[in-house]
Amino acid sequence: MNDCLFCRIVAGDIPSAKVYEDELCYAFRDINPQAPVHVLVVPKEHIPSCAQVTADNAALVAHIFTVIPQIAQAEGLTGGWRVVSNVGADAGQTVPHLHFHILGGRRLDDKMA
Ligand code: AMP
Ligand code: ZN
Repeated sequence: MNDCLFCRIVAGDIPSAKVYEDELCYAFRDINPQAPVHVLVVPKEHIPSCAQVTADNAALVAHIFTVIPQIAQAEGLTGGWRVVSNVGADAGQTVPHLHFHILGGRRLDDKMA
């Protein structure tokens, strides 16, 4: 059994608040939102993080980056938004399945790190 949290969410084994889905990716609301809009976008295929993005899966990542602005528009983020992907312990990655945070709906913190 796959014990990856986000693989299990993609499979529907763990409930989530779906925002978007297609054959390649799935988007849902973060359970602990850091901003009025906080959506996570994940590939359906298990990739641990940005550190494992290669020429073989780059098209999937590029696809996700065409979906992200669609979600931002659908969420009404006309004033701007931020995309974040944490990689590894120093960045505070807690779920080892590649995901992109979309954050917006208020003036975001100036501090990036
Ligand atoms: P990161 O710290 O970059 O690995 O981000 C993981 C994110 O997943 C955090 O913002 C968590 O709040 C979020 N998260 C953890 N479990 C769930 C869940 N069951 N449903 C939605 N979001 C979750
Ligand atoms: Zn996974």
